[in-house]
Amino acid sequence: MSGNTTDVIVIGGGTGGYSTALRAAHLGLGVTLVERDLVGGTCLHRGCVPSKAMLHAAELIDGVAEARERWGVKATLDSIDWSALVATRDDIVSRNHKGVEGQLSAAGVTVVRGTAALAGPRTVRVDVPGAGGAELWTARRGLVLATGSRPRTLPGLEPTGKHVVTSDDALFAPGLPRSVLVLGGGAIGVEYASFHRSMGAEVTLVEAAERLLPLEDADVSRQLTRALKKRGITVLTGARLLDAHLTGAPPADAHRSGTGRSDAGTPGAGTPGGGVAARVQPARGEALVITAERLLVAVGRVPVTDGLNLAAAGLTTDERGHVPPADWATLETAVPGVYVVGDLLPPPSLGLAHASFAEGLVVAETLAGLAPRPVDYAAVPRVTYSSPQTASVGLSEAAAKDAGHEVAVNVLPLTATAKGMVHGQGGMVKVVAEPGPEGRVLGVHLVGPHVSEMISESQLAVAWDASPADIAQHIHPHPTLTEAVGETFLTLAGRGLHQHA
Ligand code: FAD
Repeated sequence: MSGNTTDVIVIGGGTGGYSTALRAAHLGLGVTLVERDLVGGTCLHRGCVPSKAMLHAAELIDGVAEARERWGVKATLDSIDWSALVATRDDIVSRNHKGVEGQLSAAGVTVVRGTAALAGPRTVRVDVPGAGGAELWTARRGLVLATGSRPRTLPGLEPTGKHVVTSDDALFAPGLPRSVLVLGGGAIGVEYASFHRSMGAEVTLVEAAERLLPLEDADVSRQLTRALKKRGITVLTGARLLDAHLTGAPPADAHRSGTGRSDAGTPGAGTPGGGVAARVQPARGEALVITAERLLVAVGRVPVTDGLNLAAAGLTTDERGHVPPADWATLETAVPGVYVVGDLLPPPSLGLAHASFAEGLVVAETLAGLAPRPVDYAAVPRVTYSSPQTASVGLSEAAAKDAGHEVAVNVLPLTATAKGMVHGQGGMVKVVAEPGPEGRVLGVHLVGPHVSEMISESQLAVAWDASPADIAQHIHPHPTLTEAVGETFLTLAGRGLHQHA
């Protein structure tokens, strides 16, 4: 077995791992990145990027109906060319992938294609397929664990890739289903429910908690649920899946929820050869039998550490399989020189790509002997890219009260502004702050079109302990949706113009 030495070894080339590798190399360190699949990881190949590409197409489809129904544009949707849509998505992924590969190469990162397992605190054995043996790598400065996560599955509901799928294969399954049962009302479940509805499928969304996006502000869940129901999605919250089984025949009777959209084109050829029948216990009443062509299991993600041989470095996981850092400021574990980033981290890390980028920067800079500021987890924005979107940062109203804050809350419908009326999709801005113009902004919660693009100023407000008076000082362009954010702060600052408190 050959032996190699470098400054830093990173295991896993997803957003957490490749950002660590790039920054460390930019800072002059020798870096070896081990990846068993494709650099870019979940986010680029099975997560953020392909799903948002598809959701963009979904938005265009929804726009046809809006054009006709609201604006007199005599447009109809002819059909959806699934293969063309997929080709555009794949081209975006492929160009991003090439970009990441090029950046790693330009930075001088050695990328080893293989599966890594720890052989000691800073020594890694890499099985390289086809190379006829393993490589041994030792890190002088540090080892970074960035092996990410995979979809959680449920016993008895193992993915078949066809009728029972996870987010890993939902977008890659052949054709579009005519009906989908989505299990899980977190961000991924909501996005996929929204996407399939835009594509013309009958969609039922089942969430065990009392509300969708249970970690978000209750008003966000309420507005989102109302909007999804208006779009014809059947939303069952406080509902439990009792059991499910594959059905042989195509579920012609599956369309029990929602109202089919006349202009949604042919939602693909469907998935041939049957579907799934599930028994669901709703919050009230008797169990329902829901049949659908596809069951999408979106019940969370689990960290990936199998085969990693953490014990060789003296590391253990917590009860949920995460690798906890001993020091959240540097993300170093209890074993000196071993760091962890990305989805492998427990909360307060958030299982989000942009959080993992920030973690990668912190670890690389620490390894280079700098003293970076720790990741400010309280100010990481959270977005759901459904229609409508949700975006938030900081504390919900309930969490702020639970934390002992006295709070002032202001809610403004987006339709209170001219641009909100133009979009005509409802939505809101909700600000949670300490009372008074100079009180601290604790949380901002947005629902509506394009709110993913609107959250960043609120992120600065929360991160920089700004007050409503600070934000109200800044002029928002007219007419924009961001005006609603400005107006909400103006009111809390005691200077409301159109919304007079
Ligand atoms: P990963 O991206 O999972 O990368 C881990 C890498 O490690 C993988 O490439 C894997 O092959 C490799 N690996 C594992 N074990 C080994 C080993 N032993 N040896 C070698 N290599 C190994 N986040 C957002 O911020 N915005 C979004 O819009 C968003 N949308 C999402 C949509 C979906 C459907 C999903 C599933 C996730 C989404 N996320 C989103 C979450 C985001 O994808 C993750 O937070 C992010 O990918 C985590 O990065 P990571 O580097 O920790 O892990």
